[in-house]
Amino acid sequence: MNRPERFRPPSVDEVLRSPHCELALARYGRPATTQAVRQVLEQMRQAEPHPAPVKAIAERALARLEDRERPSQRPVINLTGTVLHTNLGRALLAEEAIDAVIAAMRSPTNLEYDIEAGKRGERDAHVRDLVRELTGAEDALLVNNNASAVLLVLNTFAREREAIVSRGELIEIGGAFRMPDIMARAGAILREVGTTNRTHLRDYAEAIGSATGLIMKVHTSNYMVQGFTAAVEPAELAALAHQHDLPFVDDLGSGTLIDLARWGLRHEKTVQDALKGGADLVTFSGDKLLGGPQAGFIAGRKELVAQLAKNPLKRALRLDKLRLAAHEATLKLYRNPDRLADRLPTLRLFTRPAAALRSLAERVLPHVANVLGSGWIVEIADCSSQIGSGALPLETLPSAGITMKPSGKASGAALDKLAAAFRALPLPVIGRIAQGALVFDLRCLEDEDAFIRQLRMLKPEVGDALA
Ligand SMILES: *Cc1c(COP(=O)(O)O)cnc(C)c1O
Repeated sequence: MNRPERFRPPSVDEVLRSPHCELALARYGRPATTQAVRQVLEQMRQAEPHPAPVKAIAERALARLEDRERPSQRPVINLTGTVLHTNLGRALLAEEAIDAVIAAMRSPTNLEYDIEAGKRGERDAHVRDLVRELTGAEDALLVNNNASAVLLVLNTFAREREAIVSRGELIEIGGAFRMPDIMARAGAILREVGTTNRTHLRDYAEAIGSATGLIMKVHTSNYMVQGFTAAVEPAELAALAHQHDLPFVDDLGSGTLIDLARWGLRHEKTVQDALKGGADLVTFSGDKLLGGPQAGFIAGRKELVAQLAKNPLKRALRLDKLRLAAHEATLKLYRNPDRLADRLPTLRLFTRPAAALRSLAERVLPHVANVLGSGWIVEIADCSSQIGSGALPLETLPSAGITMKPSGKASGAALDKLAAAFRALPLPVIGRIAQGALVFDLRCLEDEDAFIRQLRMLKPEVGDALA
C-alpha cells in the first residue's frame, strides 16, 4: 500500500539554530523570529506536500519579518493632479518648517514657558503675534484642525443657542465633515435661513431673536451655487450681527494669507479681507492653502478669542509643540512674499508652469513607454490639475502628464491591473483612471529620478502580456 509521504518538516528549533536564521535573530530578536518561523512552517504544512529546506524556511521567515516592519504610513508619489489631496496628507511642509519640527522633537522647548519671566507661558503665543502681523487680527489661537475651530466657536458662543446659517452654506466636506452635524455636536441649534440658491439679508434679520448665539458664514469650498442666486455680503451680515450685539463668524475653510492673483491664480478671499469685511472671528485650516501641518486657526477680536481660550474644549483640541513649531516657521515665510513660491511647497506646486511640466513629461515618457512595452500606447497629454481640499474648486491649473492605454481592445481590467502595479512599487505611484487611460498628472512630481529609477521594478506582467 502506497501511503502518501508524511510531511516531516524541520523543527522550529532546528531552523532557529541554523546559520540562515542569524540575520533575522540579530535584527528582530528571538520572540518575533520564533513566531515567524512557526508561521512559515504552519503555512507549509497546510499548503505544501514536501518539506522545504531549512534555508528556504529561514528566508521566508525573514521576508515576513521585513514585511511587518515596513511602515504602514509611507511616502507615495502623488500623480493624481490634486495638489492638496486630503487622502494623501494635504500640504507638504517647507524645509524651514521641517527643521523647526526636528529641533522641537529633539529637545525640551519653551512651549509653555516664558523664558524672560521664568514662569509659565502660553503655547499659542509662539504663533499669535505672527497671525496678528500677517492678518491684522487683534488676537488668534490654534486648535487641531478647522473642524475643531468651528466646533470650538459654536460651542463657546452658540451652545444651547441658535446659530444662524444660510441653507446654501450647509455643506458637506469630504471625510464626513457636515456642517449640521458639527453644529449638533457643538450643542448649537441650527437655524437655517433662506433657500439653497438664494438667501437675503431679511432672512437673517427675521431669524434673530432672544435665542440667537451667532451668525455664521461658511465658505462653500467644494462646490458653487450658480445661476439664479443671491447671497448676503459679509459686511452687511456683520452690520446686522453688530446691531444685535452678536458675533459674526466667517468660516473661510482654506485660509489664504496672501492674494493668490499675484501668481496668476484666482483671487481667493484672504483672512485679511474677511476681517476687514467685518468678521469678528475667522476660522481656517492650517494644511490647505496656508501650507503648514494640520491645524485650525481662529483669528479675530480679542475679547472673543479670550472666551474661546477659556472653554475647556480648547484644552482637548490644542496643538502639540511640533505643529506649533512648524506653523511658526511656515508663517514667517509669508513675511517675504517674493520668495514664498520658492520656499512653500504648495505654492511652488501650484505655480509650476505648464511648459516646464510638458518638458518633464517629454523626459519621463520614453522611460514609461520602454517599461510597458508594445502592449501600451503611452502619450503626453494636457491635464488640468486641481488645488484640492475644497480650496478654489473651480480653479484648474493647466498641466501636463502622460496617459497609458492598452493598445489592443480597451479593457478596464488591464487598466486596473496597471494602476495596481504602479501602486505596488516601493514608492507607490498614485494616478487616476479617466476615459480609458491611466493618467499621471506630473504637477506634483518633483523627484524625477526616483520615479524613473523605480520603474525598473514594475512587475513584468504588466507589459505586453496584459493588453
Ligand atoms: C476644509 C474645511 C473645513 C474643515 O477643515 P479641516 O482643517 O479639514 O478640519 C471646514 N470648513 C470649510 C469651509 C472647509 O473648507
